[in-house]
Amino acid sequence: MDIRLGNGFDVHAFEDGDHVILCGVRVPHTKALKGHSDADVGMHAVTDAIYGALADGDIGQHFPPSDPQWRGAASEIFLRHAVELATSRGFSISSVDCTLICEWPKIGPHAFDMKDKMANLMVLDSDRVSVKATTSERLGFTGREEGIAAIATATLVKL
Ligand code: MG
Repeated sequence: MDIRLGNGFDVHAFEDGDHVILCGVRVPHTKALKGHSDADVGMHAVTDAIYGALADGDIGQHFPPSDPQWRGAASEIFLRHAVELATSRGFSISSVDCTLICEWPKIGPHAFDMKDKMANLMVLDSDRVSVKATTSERLGFTGREEGIAAIATATLVKL
């Protein structure tokens, strides 16, 4: 059995707006996240965790921000690509764990939908996908509500 573990980390800054997209779910907020794509910081971290487990670069290499075709792109395109890459190499995703770090918006009320959305995208049972959140106790850029950070871990298995 070949078991691989990967991690991912991402940050996006806030800008003017009225909602954010987190782990594929639209969450009403007093700000938006700035980014070339839809700035889904959680899904980017999960995508990078899968690339990391495959030891195959990162999201910026597979989808260069300099390429205009990814402007405003739905991040599920990136996640699907990472999953397909894993499948093409004979790996299945065993588990994914994603932590969103922010003061606002509150993640708890949306966590189930986020978990469900990402499990569907990765064609996984929902008990293999975790989405959780923490604050940074008002410290640092997340504490000052300048943006949102996300970390993720993915475990891949080849039988
Ligand atoms: Mg990103």
